[in-house]
Amino acid sequence: MYIVQIASECAPVIKAGGLGDVVYGLSRELENRGNCVELILPMYDCMRYDHIWGLHDAYRDLGVPWYGGEIKCDVFCGWVHGRLCFFIQPKSQDEFFNRGYVYGGHDDPMRFAFFSKAAMEFLLKSNKRPDIIHCHDWQTGLIPVMLYEMYQYYGMERQRVCYTIHNFRHQGNCGNEILEATGLNRPEYYFHYDRLRDNFNPFALNLMKGGIVYSNYVNTVSPHHAWEARYTEVGYGLGHTLELHQDKFSGILNGVDYNLWNPETDELISSMYGIDDLKGKAKNKKALREQLLLADSDKPIIAYIGRLDDQKGVNQVHHAIYYALNRKAQFVLLGSATSADVNAKFWHEKHFLNDNPDVHLELGFNEELAHLIYAGADMVVVPSKFEPCGLTQLISLKYGTVPIVRGVGGLLSTVFDRDYDLNHAPEKRNGYVFYQTDNYALESAMERAIGLFYEYPKEFEQLVQQGMEYDYSWKSAGVQYINVYDRIKYQY
Ligand code: ADP
Repeated sequence: MYIVQIASECAPVIKAGGLGDVVYGLSRELENRGNCVELILPMYDCMRYDHIWGLHDAYRDLGVPWYGGEIKCDVFCGWVHGRLCFFIQPKSQDEFFNRGYVYGGHDDPMRFAFFSKAAMEFLLKSNKRPDIIHCHDWQTGLIPVMLYEMYQYYGMERQRVCYTIHNFRHQGNCGNEILEATGLNRPEYYFHYDRLRDNFNPFALNLMKGGIVYSNYVNTVSPHHAWEARYTEVGYGLGHTLELHQDKFSGILNGVDYNLWNPETDELISSMYGIDDLKGKAKNKKALREQLLLADSDKPIIAYIGRLDDQKGVNQVHHAIYYALNRKAQFVLLGSATSADVNAKFWHEKHFLNDNPDVHLELGFNEELAHLIYAGADMVVVPSKFEPCGLTQLISLKYGTVPIVRGVGGLLSTVFDRDYDLNHAPEKRNGYVFYQTDNYALESAMERAIGLFYEYPKEFEQLVQQGMEYDYSWKSAGVQYINVYDRIKYQY
């Protein structure tokens, strides 16, 4: 099959979170299975250009219709660790992608509506006719809308769309200027409840809803989250829309790209190791301590890696630091805050704890350090309020780092409590799970993990190995996505 992925991120060139990992990892898996895969991305100024090979012109002066006129774009082409990517660079004074950030502009819906329009125009004018267009999250929600309302009449009548939702919290709410800009000319038609009108704000369009309504298939990134999104508040108002479209909606658990995330081959860590040789892991622990100036001791290292965002349970992350210190453990945090107040709070903590030899807070995005932390830490905490899939716990398991997670979404589908999970035999359990959002719940899970580390080191090592045995690679998800593509390919 010929598959084009259209997304706002692709690791490692441009990654703000799990979406980037998924777009890259899935593309690689699909290619390994014999499909032809191409990616279309915005050409951000803040990309890691050192990860793009052979960047060259692919299409000069692509005219993209916009507000009745047009904006010219240059399209560049290059390989990101073997994946063929097209980067769209608009030449307009809006400087949509030359702002030093990926998300966070007041005009984000407009920026990504333009990207979606330009991607469709590029496919049309370069005569690319993929079997499947796979788009991701609200940023590309307009793609299926434009395909079925416009581009199918221009010669793209055979293309089918798979739409993957990685996070329901951000849906791309905007006004009807987006319709005018993209040439979707009948506002009253699109503002209908059955199409793009937001379920709760009758004056707003919802780009993610458009993606759900118009795509041939919709999925989120774990089966449990697919259920949660339909029946609980974590669907953020789209539960009813999903219910209406339930025949084409499911959850497919993300995989992890073990070519990038594998302690046996990882060149970014201090010493490679595998399940039968955990001495290598101890060397990474030592290297991590040296790099972050932590005291050398027999204490466990507990880590947090991820966005510092309300979704991730920042207050509990904060509490985990002090609880760990209290319980004679060390704590390493690697996180970037999305809001100014959370950022200020953690900078304050960083200064406050500066002289403490048992803790290090690294504020910012650092892919290389993330690898060393996964390899050097003993446990990782993931106290998310909701988590569509979660990659942190999956990567941790591969690196023999015991996950301590809140039992929601994909965390619930992948981590099985060592003491209480009755659905898995003791030798299949791989971490610790707590359910409530209060600090006591987190403490009780951390307490059990730290207790096992100190009191029963052999059993702790056994738990580490049980986690490493799990295979959360892309194999299974690859098959499931291909089944979805097969199902929609000939749909009319
Ligand atoms: P989300 O997509 O909600 O941010 P996921 O758990 O799905 O969360 O994916 C997070 C990914 O981003 C993981 O690969 C994690 O290692 C990485 N990551 C998150 N924050 C940072 C950071 N500050 N530095 C380096 N990597 C990070």
